[in-house]
Order: sequence, then structure tokens, then C-alpha cells
Amino acid sequence: MTDTTDIFVTGLRNAHAMEHQALSIMKPQVSRIENYPEIAQRLQQHITETENQIERLERVLDDLGKNKSSLKDAALSLGGSMAAIGHTVAPDEIVKNSFANFAFENYEIAAYKSLLALANQAGNAAAADLLSQSLDEEIAMADWLDQNIEAVTLQYAALRESGQTAKK
Ligand code: MG
Ligand code: FE
Repeated sequence: MTDTTDIFVTGLRNAHAMEHQALSIMKPQVSRIENYPEIAQRLQQHITETENQIERLERVLDDLGKNKSSLKDAALSLGGSMAAIGHTVAPDEIVKNSFANFAFENYEIAAYKSLLALANQAGNAAAADLLSQSLDEEIAMADWLDQNIEAVTLQYAALRESGQTAKK
């Protein structure tokens, strides 16, 4: 295995861990949302997309002859800090989670761009195709979050003003 292949495989494994972390951030968020149905719906859609992204990474690793079972050993590429803010239970958790999710999606965009560069350099068209599908989903999710930051903030403020006790 060349150094560049080694870098690619390590990056794929880190991305696999990243995607599992994404699920562990989004799933509790969805289950806690009460007053923001559009956010719950978009998160649920991205959970499904994330499950497909995990399968794509496993397909790329399989094609490289890398055993799936070794994925359990993959070290998480992210520290706990982003996950911690992703799990916040502050009164304004819906707003803070939108910041954290936006940060996380941009991390994922960078990770897929990096993997795509390596796939393209290696002439691995099958991997590049799968990775760019996932990259497109991350960009779409980041764009959605970006466009929703103002609305969710004002929605949260309006709910507080109306004396709603449920802030989620
Ligand atoms: Mg993802
Ligand atoms: Fe994502």
C-alpha cells in the first residue's frame, strides 16, 4: 500500500467514525424537538442520508479490500466538544444546536473534499462518484442550516414571548 492509499484509507475510516458521530448528535435532537417540525423533518431526512453515507464509505473501503470489522477500531476524528454542544439542553437548545449542526456539516464538507481529492488523484472513479454524492448532501444540509439560522432564532424568540414553556 502506498502512502497516499494509506492516507485515503485512514481518511475513509475517520469519515466513517465522523458519520456515526453525526447520527449520535442528530438522533437525540430529533427525539427532543417539539415545536419546530420543519427542523425535525430536515434532520430526519439527513439521518437517512447519513445512513447512506456510511454505506457508501463501507463500499469504498470494501472495494479497496479493507475489512469492515476494523472500522470498530477507528479513532474518532473529532473531539467531544462539538458533540457536547450538539447535546446541549439549555433553554435555547434549538438555536445552539443549529450553530453546532452548521459547524459539523462544514467539517463534513471539508472531510469529503479531502477524500475526493485523493480519490481523483488515484483515478478511483467509483470512489469519487460515491464521495461526491455524500459531499453534495453535506453541502445541501449546510445550506439549509445556514438559511434557517435567522428563522429559528426568531421562532424561538416568538415562542418565548408567547409564554410557551416548551422551548424545544
Ligand atoms: Mg454526513
Ligand atoms: Fe452531514
